[in-house]
Amino acid sequence: MPVIGCECAVCSSADPKDRRFRSSLLIRSDRQILIDSGPDLRAQALTFGVNHLDAVVYTHCHNDHVMGFDDLRRYCEMTGRKMPVYASQATLTMLQQVFPYAFDPTLKVSTYISAEPHVVDAGREFAIGGVSLRAINVPHGHTPTFGYIISGRAAYLPDCAALTEELAAALQNIPVLIIDGLREQPHPTHLHIAAAIDAARRVNAKQTYLTHLTHHVSHADRQRNLPDGITLAYDGLSIEL
Ligand SMILES: [Zn+2]
Ligand SMILES: [Zn+2]
Ligand SMILES: [Zn+2]
Repeated sequence: MPVIGCECAVCSSADPKDRRFRSSLLIRSDRQILIDSGPDLRAQALTFGVNHLDAVVYTHCHNDHVMGFDDLRRYCEMTGRKMPVYASQATLTMLQQVFPYAFDPTLKVSTYISAEPHVVDAGREFAIGGVSLRAINVPHGHTPTFGYIISGRAAYLPDCAALTEELAAALQNIPVLIIDGLREQPHPTHLHIAAAIDAARRVNAKQTYLTHLTHHVSHADRQRNLPDGITLAYDGLSIEL
């Protein structure tokens, strides 16, 4: 946001919280781990000073979550190492189709991104340094999609159509829930705001952040009318776990 050619109140807003890049999350611990590299990756990295990445983890293979993949080349160039990439087999297959040179050593050129793929399975925990991650299956149209539980303390589900029983069980009592809250109106493959609030209540999340917001949501106006414990996320928001 703003949306190209749109003159709505939110796209014209002077509030910096109404200017949003595509959704992603940076985990800063003993490792720096990025979840999703959307088309804005380069601008996001420059804006927020992301000068180092140890690994990239993917939720799913929609363009708004993967199309900054090529810009990860700069991190490889700075370290001379391959970038560890964690994703479902379906997402890795798509990345390999679109960016074959990142995975095939015979196509490698020195300045290209070089990826080290790691297949993630739903339900299985894996660790990157001291950060443990567990992928959970999330309904999101026809595309296989994961959310991630981060060291048992936070859950990140930027694209989610509904809270399934399996999801509700996995997320029960999560301290921090960061979840899809696309807009006011229902959507076939995303939670709208009322459904996201309902999901947060069902899992008894202590603090919930709504993300993947569109230009139908004015940050200041909507934030005033949210229940306690529910906050709209914004670019640059930092949460201590
Ligand atoms: Zn607009
Ligand atoms: Zn998606
Ligand atoms: Zn998305």
